[in-house]
Amino acid sequence: MKPQDYITLDETYAAHTYHPIEVVIERGEGVWVYDVEGKKYLDCLSAYSAVNQGHCHPRILEAATAQMHRVTLTSRAFFNDQMGPFMKELCELTGYEMALPMNTGAEAVETAIKAARKWGYQMKGVPDNQAEIIVCEGNFAGRTTTLISFSSEPQYREDFGPLTPGFKTVPYGDADELEEAITPNTVAFLVEPIQGEGGVNVPPPGYLKRVSEICAAHNVLFIADEIQTGLGRTGAILCCDHEGVRPDVVTLGKALSGGFYPVSAVLADRKVLGLFRPGDHGSTFGGNPLGSAIARAALDVLVDEGLIDHSREMGAYFKGRLERLEGDHIKEVRGKGLLIGVELDRRARPYCDALQERGILCKDTHGTVVRFAPPLIITKDEIDWAMERIGPVLMNGHS
Ligand code: PLP
Repeated sequence: MKPQDYITLDETYAAHTYHPIEVVIERGEGVWVYDVEGKKYLDCLSAYSAVNQGHCHPRILEAATAQMHRVTLTSRAFFNDQMGPFMKELCELTGYEMALPMNTGAEAVETAIKAARKWGYQMKGVPDNQAEIIVCEGNFAGRTTTLISFSSEPQYREDFGPLTPGFKTVPYGDADELEEAITPNTVAFLVEPIQGEGGVNVPPPGYLKRVSEICAAHNVLFIADEIQTGLGRTGAILCCDHEGVRPDVVTLGKALSGGFYPVSAVLADRKVLGLFRPGDHGSTFGGNPLGSAIARAALDVLVDEGLIDHSREMGAYFKGRLERLEGDHIKEVRGKGLLIGVELDRRARPYCDALQERGILCKDTHGTVVRFAPPLIITKDEIDWAMERIGPVLMNGHS
């Protein structure tokens, strides 16, 4: 079949919830993916930061296949021999007392919301059904009905109501506005340390530190959604580490499995996650032995291959090279580690299409931003190879 045949199948039989770049990928290895005609591309999206360890990492593949031969799903009606070690290793790596395994990022954020509400009613004494959670303009937390209820993107909400109440929105990056919005019923502030889908928005220095202080002063849980920024993407295990702050609750997903399988988790101390009782929450697949074995290997790869420091170094190099590009239509280059956005004064999609023709896969975000987020294993030579193609495309005034 030709690429167009696959695209036609997709467009005929699958609901049109995405507007993909027209490439049909058949195979991936490291930072590279290959289309059905054998053309090679450098993946600069990493499945929205899920493939931090590179495509089909051999060590994760080995752990996955070995576990598939043993047992894949037990449900949590029984214990399995992978979930406990996974939880311990994840807690030790991130410095939290407990974790709760889920599958997708959206589920992890939903779980964090339930945990914060429960904490609010049981520990803070918020009256029944009055809990408020403060979120930021430009947030992205996933596509469930509750999560779109607090999105500031009209298209995400339109025709999907009635929406879930209990959320209040403040501008991103403004700690004073957060403090003003807090009431006695506020149980949590949910924030991305860098807004990925919102356009790679980096808050002002010191913002997360002040957020942490304000939340502590008002007895409000600080929830960091690190589903996109966590696990080395920004050059630290958690993006919040750049400001030396420790959120009360952290959500992780995406790269937790190196892209092999949906694995997400909520991290917190016992005072929050210890409030859950059997029956309060669950998921048939959450904590399954296959996902747990994969996640254990994915975490080992991040640490053993030094990918967190490597991301910081390669990110600084890549960002530096992008900053030197000239063109009046390039408004800003921003980001941390290997999460980089180039904001244009015009639509970014034609630039992504032009990059695809030259062997670079990336995706526009928030209309005018080209996001560069390659697997963290990318080398300096590969960045140089990419820049030979990215430079001429970005400096051209496509409209
Ligand atoms: N939170 C953040 C910050 C994200 O970037 C995303 C996905 O892009 C999600 C949550 C939702 O994750 P998922 O698509 O796995 O449900």
